[in-house]
Amino acid sequence: MLQKRTRIFFLNILFLMYSSPTPALAQKISGSTNYSDKPKLVVGIVVDQMRYDYLFRYREKFGKDGFMKLLNEGFFCANTHYNYIPTFTGPGHACIYTGATPSINGIVANDWYERKENDTMYCVQDKSVQTVGSTTQAGMMSPKNLLTTTITDELRLSDNFQSKVIGISLKDRGAILPTGHTANAAYWFDGTNGNWISSSYYMQDLPAWVKEFNSLKLPDHYLSAPWKTLLPMEQYTESTADDNAYEEPYPKELKPVFPHDFPKIRENDFELVRKSPAGNTMTKELAIAAMKGENLGKGSHADFLAISFSATDYVGHQFGTNAIETEDTYLRLDKDIAELLSYIESTYGKNNVLVFLTADHGALQNPQFLADHKIPAKALKAKDVEAYLKSNLNTVYGTSDFVSCILNDQVYLDQNSIASKQLNPDEVENTVAEILNGFDGVSNTVTATQLSFFEFAEGGRNLIQHGYNSKRCGDVMIMAEPGVIEYKPTGTTHGSGYSYDTHVPLLWYGWKIPQGSTSDKITVTDIAATLASLLHIEFPNGCTGHPIRDLVK
Ligand SMILES: [Zn+2]
Repeated sequence: MLQKRTRIFFLNILFLMYSSPTPALAQKISGSTNYSDKPKLVVGIVVDQMRYDYLFRYREKFGKDGFMKLLNEGFFCANTHYNYIPTFTGPGHACIYTGATPSINGIVANDWYERKENDTMYCVQDKSVQTVGSTTQAGMMSPKNLLTTTITDELRLSDNFQSKVIGISLKDRGAILPTGHTANAAYWFDGTNGNWISSSYYMQDLPAWVKEFNSLKLPDHYLSAPWKTLLPMEQYTESTADDNAYEEPYPKELKPVFPHDFPKIRENDFELVRKSPAGNTMTKELAIAAMKGENLGKGSHADFLAISFSATDYVGHQFGTNAIETEDTYLRLDKDIAELLSYIESTYGKNNVLVFLTADHGALQNPQFLADHKIPAKALKAKDVEAYLKSNLNTVYGTSDFVSCILNDQVYLDQNSIASKQLNPDEVENTVAEILNGFDGVSNTVTATQLSFFEFAEGGRNLIQHGYNSKRCGDVMIMAEPGVIEYKPTGTTHGSGYSYDTHVPLLWYGWKIPQGSTSDKITVTDIAATLASLLHIEFPNGCTGHPIRDLVK
C-alpha cells in the first residue's frame, strides 16, 4: 500500500507528463491514431461471380491502372472465403455488408419458399412499395427481408444520418442489400425500358441527375453495334476456342461466337445490355454521375458508394468461366475500374478515399468441360432429383404429396400434410435424407432437426448451418459432390461450399491502407468488421467477423 504523500507525488508526475509533455512524449502522442480522422468517401466494389483466380489468369492482359493498381499498390487478402452455403448473389451481397451469414441476416437465397404464403419470396421483394422511374413492377423492392443492419446503416447511425449512402447495380439485390435499411438511395436497371430506377422505399421521384442520365439513352447506343473482342481473337490464349459446346448462345443466335450481332439478335427490350460488358460500363458511368450529382465526399462526414458490377455474372452464366466472352468482359471491366479509380483519385485524392473490391461468389467451370478433361463433374437436372425422391417416397409411404417444393438444394416438407397422414415427422425427414443420399451426385444431406440440435464445427454441414434460417429454409438440405451442379448443360452456375464458389478476391486501397498482402484465412464476414474498425463505428448488429489484423493494427 502506497503512503498518501507518495501517491500524491506520482499523481503530480503523471499530471506534469500529460500537461506539458517532453519533446519525445509529444511526438509519441501526435503520432498516435487521430480518432476523428475519416475518409471523405468509401467505395465498395463487388464484381458479381468474380473468381479469385481471374486476377492472375488475365493478369498479363490487364492494364496497370485497374485491377493491377489495387493489387500492386493496395492490400491483397489472397485467401478470402465465404463460410456458408448457398453462395448466391443475394446472400453474398448481404454477407459482405452485414458481416453476418444467412443464418443471421436472413438472406438465405435469392428466392426461398415462404411456408405461410405457400409461395416463393424474392430476397428484396416488397409488394408494399412502388416503382420510381418506370411503369413496370421492377421497382417494387426494398431491404425489408434483411434482418440485420449493414455497415452502411452503422455509418449512418454513427453520425446522426449525416453520411450519404448510395447503392448502384444492374441487379436490384446488388444495389439494395449493400446499402441496408437507412440508405439515401439505391438504383438498379429496368431492362424493359432501359432506365435506371428505384423504389418508393427511398424516394418519390428520381433526382434530376438520374433523369438526365436516363435521357442519354446509353442502352440504345450499346445495342446499336455488335460485341467484338477488344483484342485480336488469337490473343485470347487463356480461354477455350470461341466456337465450343460448353457455351450457351444468346437467344436468336445459332452459335456462341463473336461478333455477337446485338442489332440483329436484340429483342424489343434492353435485357441484352445486362449480359454484355456494356452493362458494367454503364454501371461505372452511373457511379461517376452519382459522385457528381450527389456531391459525394464533399461534406464533413464520410459518404459511402456501394457499386456492384453484375454483367460479369450474366456473362459467366451464359458462357462459363473459360469463354473468350468472359475474358473479354473482364478485360473491359479492368478499363472501367481504371477509369473509376482515376476519377476518384483526381477528385478526392487517393488518401481520402477507402476502396475495397470483392465478389459475391465464384463459379465452377462448365461441368462437361471438366469431364472432357478427366475431372469428375456433371450437371444434374432438378426435375430428375425431384422425380427420384418422389418415386422412392411413393414406394415407402404410398404418397409424396407432403413435399411442398425443392428449392436451393433444400426439400421443404408440408408438416400439416404429414400430420394429417399420421406420419412421424422426424421419420419422414430422415427418410427423405436417406433417399437423397442414394442419388448419384449427392455427397451428403443434413436435416433441419440435426441443424437445430447440433453445432457442426467444420465441414459441409458447418457451411450449411451458417446458411440455415429455420423460418426460411427447408427440412432437408442437400450437398452435391464437388464439381456437381444443378444446371443446364451449357454455361455454368455457383452456390456450393467448395472453393471454386467460396474463394473470392479481396483488395483494399486508399485511405489508411498499407501496401502488402496476407495469405491468412479471411472470411467475407471480416470485411464489415474491418470497415467498422477503420471507421471507428459500431459493427453491424449481426456481425460475426473479425477485423483483418494487418489493416487495423
Ligand atoms: Zn452473384
